[in-house]
Amino acid sequence: MALLTINENGLYCKQGDFYIDPWRPVKVALITHGHSDHMRWGMKHYICHQHTVPILRLRLGIEQSVQGVEYGEPFEINGVSVSFHPAGHIIGSSQIRLSYRGEVWVFTGDYKMEPDGVSAPFESLLCDHFISECTFGLPVYRFPRATVLYQAINDWWKSNAQQGYNTVLYGYSLGKAQNILAHLDKSIGDIYLHGAVANVNEALEEVGFHFPGVRMTTDMDRQSMEGAVIVAPPSANNTPWVKKLKPYREGMCSGWMQLRGSRRRRSVDKGFALSDHCDWNQLNIAVEQSGASHVYLTHGYEVNFARWLAERYQVEAAVLKTLYNDEMEEEG
Ligand SMILES: [Zn+2]
Ligand SMILES: [Zn+2]
Repeated sequence: MALLTINENGLYCKQGDFYIDPWRPVKVALITHGHSDHMRWGMKHYICHQHTVPILRLRLGIEQSVQGVEYGEPFEINGVSVSFHPAGHIIGSSQIRLSYRGEVWVFTGDYKMEPDGVSAPFESLLCDHFISECTFGLPVYRFPRATVLYQAINDWWKSNAQQGYNTVLYGYSLGKAQNILAHLDKSIGDIYLHGAVANVNEALEEVGFHFPGVRMTTDMDRQSMEGAVIVAPPSANNTPWVKKLKPYREGMCSGWMQLRGSRRRRSVDKGFALSDHCDWNQLNIAVEQSGASHVYLTHGYEVNFARWLAERYQVEAAVLKTLYNDEMEEEG
């Protein structure tokens, strides 16, 4: 009997009678992180990393029953030993490790291996059964180093400012926005925030995170903004809200920007392949380092990647059909 299986509600541990990132209301839900495809409404009791607690309160409301836990501190649920470990994806993001009768399972949730200086860096865990996302599980996805991208973003902002343009940077309000903000060069100009980003930053203040930037308000004089950078969610693209920031240039920060054509589809001036997921190389390293004999793949190019892993590493690789979806991460 497998320790984790998929049923109509989500990823289920029968022995412990709990779910991980379920998509339908259940009694006990362990939550890897605050993106809306993983943290959904309607659970009786939520267990998540303590830095995810204010995000959960912001997005799901304050009346929920929530228990915040620390990284690396095991606890038991019906005889199953459970612990949360850094996934390096966004602040509070966790891999969940289960151990029962000597068998170890790890569910990565969403993760990346390259540290972003904001979220706790990914921790490699040894296990027998490894459940991994593979959002960018194709060899074409090889992202530049993040430090190179931070520099490119600042250089572009600076040159826009010198030509009298504002710079609008799009990134998911939870995760990407904080990653961008932490690496902007404040000497270039003023930093402003879309309300959705400001809300997340304020929630994270409660657990000790501080990010630069001023919340944009309706009564703000936009004429006075010159050469500023504005960080906004991708959903602000092509809205009246952003048009008021003219003259501006728009840049999209997303792993998808690595492929030609993605920038044009979003109708932005520039794309930065700044990702909060693993690229092809990182996924391969993660699977190898887990030492797992069984690997299960969730959202992404799971069929191709499973075939590749089985051939390349002689592991049992299977696809797990879930409702996780990177494109959904923004809503909430
Ligand atoms: Zn995510
Ligand atoms: Zn996801």
